Amino acid sequence: GADRTKNVLILMSDTGGGHRASAEAIRDAFKMEFGDEYRIFVKDVWKEYTGWPLNDMENQYKFMVKHVQLWSVAFHGTSPRWIHGVYLAAIAAFYAKEVEAGLMEYKPDIIISVHPLMQHIPLWVLKWQGLQKKVIFVTVITDLNTCHRTWFHPGVKRCYCPSEEVSKRALLDRLEPNQVRVFGLPIRPSFARAVLNKDDLRVELELDPVLPAVLLMGGGEGMGPVKKTAKALAESLFDKENGKPLGQMVVICGRNKALASSLESLEWKIPVKVRGFETQMQKWMGACDCIITKAGPGTIAEALIRGLPIILNDYIPGQEKGNVPYVVDNGAGVFTRSPKETARIVAGWFSTNSEELKKMSQNSLKLAQPEAVFDIVRDIHDLAGQRGPLAELSYDLTPSFTNLI
Ligand code: UDP
Repeated sequence: GADRTKNVLILMSDTGGGHRASAEAIRDAFKMEFGDEYRIFVKDVWKEYTGWPLNDMENQYKFMVKHVQLWSVAFHGTSPRWIHGVYLAAIAAFYAKEVEAGLMEYKPDIIISVHPLMQHIPLWVLKWQGLQKKVIFVTVITDLNTCHRTWFHPGVKRCYCPSEEVSKRALLDRLEPNQVRVFGLPIRPSFARAVLNKDDLRVELELDPVLPAVLLMGGGEGMGPVKKTAKALAESLFDKENGKPLGQMVVICGRNKALASSLESLEWKIPVKVRGFETQMQKWMGACDCIITKAGPGTIAEALIRGLPIILNDYIPGQEKGNVPYVVDNGAGVFTRSPKETARIVAGWFSTNSEELKKMSQNSLKLAQPEAVFDIVRDIHDLAGQRGPLAELSYDLTPSFTNLI
């Protein structure tokens, strides 16, 4: 009956760190709000059920963003609908049975896509199964501004946009106003709801209790000019006259192991902590006073919640470009590609220019949308309620694609 636990399948891919973080945010918010009413599966269906190229997106993405020109061509070259439409349709036909089996294994009542390439193929599969009216399919966009057009599919029940800018693009791309909602980027509840005390965090994380702290990172993959910036900061945050540090530095390298080991082998004049992939980012951000990062939407939104001024030192062409004016024009940070300039700004914030640090911190907090993820899951819950009894949903597990051709 109505009490049946509903299955929610969240489609993501480990390209970067942001899609997984958003998927986990939604999963955790469902649990906090609705407990056992929903059973949540977070899956990379491509990786588990298909062959090349879909099962290899992580590596292709890593390769392309390392060679930014290639990524730029891939991003902009696939923008016209007929190009990505044809490409995705071809792949869908090729892997139809596998994807269908992959999706149907979880008997989803609700499918949530947090990836730009996970609209078209799953929606076709639902159509082939005759399930498009019964299964609620929604997209949660995780780019703040200049997102790729494959995010927008008119066949979705809802398209959750993180900003007005993205919702305008959605409307231009054939979505109806009643499909579009703007709540903000979903951030893990551990960020949104945690009551954290900076002094306690510094003890827990073994940081200096009084020195101002800068957090340096580059998304899930540890990208951007991290090493050069670390070196420049070690110089600028050391007060030669007194022979004392002005501040301390935390470098989070994410999955970039080479970066972590090369930084660990260096000698520093100021207190430095080098870390790999951290699962408790809210603590590190809560313990620091400002952040330096590439323009990843996840990291930006999290930093805003913690009220951190942001120095953006890089962006991935295409989807991250628009994040720069989002931060800078709202007074929450600055953009510079120069490690020296970055180091100079931080040294200023930690000494003579502390007023600017304070002001930008306030602006960050004003932009923050910690409730976004709860607004999203509540809206999905309302949709599920309107759908009436889902219990009669029956899944035909034998692939039906072949019946249609
Ligand atoms: N992240 C993390 N641990 C790390 C490094 C990054 O949990 O060691 C998270 C970070 O908090 C953010 C996400 O990974 O939620 C990075 O997403 P973003 O959109 O900033 O960049 P991406 O890595 O997707 O390019």
